[in-house]
Amino acid sequence: MQTRLDRLRAIMAGRALPALLVSAPANRRYLSGFTGSSGALLITPARALLITDSRYTLQAAREAPDFAVRELINPGRPLPAVLKAAAAEQGLTQLGFEAAFVTVAEHRALADALAGVVELVPVEGLVEQLRVVKEADELAILRRAIAITDAAFAATLPRLRPEMSEREAAWMLEVALRIGGAEAISFPIIVAAGPNGALPHATPGDEPLGSGRPIVIDMGARVAGYHADLTRTVVLGEADERFWQIYDIVLEAQRRAIAGMRPGIHTHVVDALARDYIGSRGYGEQFGHGLGHGVGLEVHEGPGLRRALPDAPPVALQPGMVTSVEPGIYLEGWGGVRIEDLVLVTSEGATVLSQAPKLRS
Ligand code: ZN
Ligand code: ZN
Repeated sequence: MQTRLDRLRAIMAGRALPALLVSAPANRRYLSGFTGSSGALLITPARALLITDSRYTLQAAREAPDFAVRELINPGRPLPAVLKAAAAEQGLTQLGFEAAFVTVAEHRALADALAGVVELVPVEGLVEQLRVVKEADELAILRRAIAITDAAFAATLPRLRPEMSEREAAWMLEVALRIGGAEAISFPIIVAAGPNGALPHATPGDEPLGSGRPIVIDMGARVAGYHADLTRTVVLGEADERFWQIYDIVLEAQRRAIAGMRPGIHTHVVDALARDYIGSRGYGEQFGHGLGHGVGLEVHEGPGLRRALPDAPPVALQPGMVTSVEPGIYLEGWGGVRIEDLVLVTSEGATVLSQAPKLRS
């Protein structure tokens, strides 16, 4: 954990930021190792405090040995009061806070407690930029989560029947993930049969899986806080010509994007490799979402593979990044085809980590 803190401190120094309050749960866990649901970190060049409540103080001391644990008491000694005392102790005059994770009410309480002493500075993405490149131990956990996901999919697929509901299929997949070693599911499993598959994030319901029509399955195991993410589109019974035509376009779009992934390439260029191909086949309007996203302590994190935003600087792939590559085509009234693999950027190119079977290889 020390090197993560060191790297964060280097970023803080580059911005002349003397202290940072870390509130985002995934960032808190990444820096400290603390897995509790409540708490905040105060990072300065010399000190690292973990502030949490009495439910977690013993756990925090055990999980986060590099941090000094401070107990807050609500009501009585809430977070702003603990920060005020720490700021006085360390002579802080500025404190960065994670603008995307502090509510207006929390900000007001902090501003009141620190008024006239400490200036609050909104920051974004400081810890997130460290998390985009995975370390060896994180990769090992991700590979385990992916293997559990692949195995659960492969074991469940032959047991699906046309008369089963989407909900029943989703439950069978969830049970397989849990029995296979997942501590939780990464997100509510999607099983979307026939026309329901036209909604990229459909909720499984009473709809039978049916035969001869596309079924989109999107699922993932969570292991030690890390999220796998896998989509396969399958058909029970015989698929028709239209299905194969669309399936092959999506598969080829995915193949082209993965073939182009290597260090230095910009994420919007990878997105375009898939998007332009789908567009050239006449389905550009039917592929509305981004091509992919990073995975890790959050199921959706950086880097995003998506169209360039007008005012955001381009992001280049680096070795150690793990992203999904998940092109899709969605046709109202018919359904959808999405194929999603997790891909590791290596020094030479990219390695596909997901190994769940596809209808065509
Ligand atoms: Zn997914
Ligand atoms: Zn995904």
